Amino acid sequence: MIKVNDDYLKLRGSYLFSDIARRVKEYSEANADKKIIRLGIGDVTLPLAPSIICSLHDAVDEMGKKETFKGYAPDLGYEFLRSKIAENDYMMRGCDIKADEIFVSDGAKSDSGNIQEIFSKDIVVAVCDPVYPVYVDTNVMAGRAGSFDESIGQWSDIVYMPCTKENKFVPEIPEKDVDLIYLCFPNNPTGEVITKDQLQVWVDYANKTGAVIIYDAAYESYICEDNIPHSIYECEGARTCAIELHSFSKNAGFTGLRLGYTVIPKDLERDGVKLHSLWARRHGTKYNGAPYIVQKAGEAVYSELGKQEVKQQVAYYMKNAQYMSSHLKDMGFNVFGGVNSPYVWLETPDGLTSWEFFDSLLNKVQIVGTPGVGFGPHGEGFFRLTAFGSFENTVEAMERIKNDYCK
Ligand code: PLP
Repeated sequence: MIKVNDDYLKLRGSYLFSDIARRVKEYSEANADKKIIRLGIGDVTLPLAPSIICSLHDAVDEMGKKETFKGYAPDLGYEFLRSKIAENDYMMRGCDIKADEIFVSDGAKSDSGNIQEIFSKDIVVAVCDPVYPVYVDTNVMAGRAGSFDESIGQWSDIVYMPCTKENKFVPEIPEKDVDLIYLCFPNNPTGEVITKDQLQVWVDYANKTGAVIIYDAAYESYICEDNIPHSIYECEGARTCAIELHSFSKNAGFTGLRLGYTVIPKDLERDGVKLHSLWARRHGTKYNGAPYIVQKAGEAVYSELGKQEVKQQVAYYMKNAQYMSSHLKDMGFNVFGGVNSPYVWLETPDGLTSWEFFDSLLNKVQIVGTPGVGFGPHGEGFFRLTAFGSFENTVEAMERIKNDYCK
């Protein structure tokens, strides 16, 4: 009889957000009269900007005419989009990245999950703790994680790099040698960032040891402060050690449309092989390209009007983040993130665990957030709130916490 891939069987329980959804469903079924405010899942709520909608309509019309109909998209993405990305996200920031080093995809989740395929099974993976769960889970699926130690909530073969209050949520270089390093800044879930000097230390380490950094820049457009790198390629030497992931989800609201890209510089070689060629081969074999109409929508993000419109959307969410951050601080919470990121990371009060605080916030004031421990053991004792709701709901949530939770 056929056998299943038993690495999948090692995966831990249900996915964090399914757990949250189940608890919220149970609560709302029992309390149908109560209005729940959801500040949990990192999904956007504003509709797509007008210039993006316009571009989608035009592209749909093109698909309906024989002369302009498009079939399979080029595996690596349409040139019109890749050149806009290279120009706006890299050249204009002084980063040396060319259009043919960009691979367009259906989003950063699939790329961040799939990229590990081009490396040997026999490598040591390092992740920030806490962090976006996809990096760990996909390495578990690939058989690289070893066994799970219940007592510490960690996989035996994965190196966890604690991101704590003490190190301002920026990991230190591990004592043990590591091969594949996942960094994500602005970070999900802590909302904290890394400075260019701190990132340079990682780039130097990777170049010295032959490691590769996967740099997830999904929240780059939320950076407001100076001296915070928008791309790892702002660091010297990153072309020979780093792969960068981007998403159109959080900057332009494409969570339902699906678009992202991955950058692999042609200078990045390991074992005498260009990683660019491996990923191109993988993309060509397993992926038939993001839809033409979605790539046209992506192109509109880089038009003058599109840039202004998406900037306003990011500013709207950042107003929520700042509102939450300042009000929670006034209420006496210990608050992090929220300055260069749509995520506010707060320490749970009175020594509650993350899940205890989740339940108490849901039961007392009907607010849904995300328990920090769901992002890794060092997330225990923390809680993530997102700024992706409406301003009105954000204000109401803070009032509820102030009047009915803290009193
Ligand atoms: N990377 C990080 C760090 C994220 O938090 C998310 C989504 O929440 C993604 C990637 C997924 O992005 P996409 O919607 O492009 O798949």
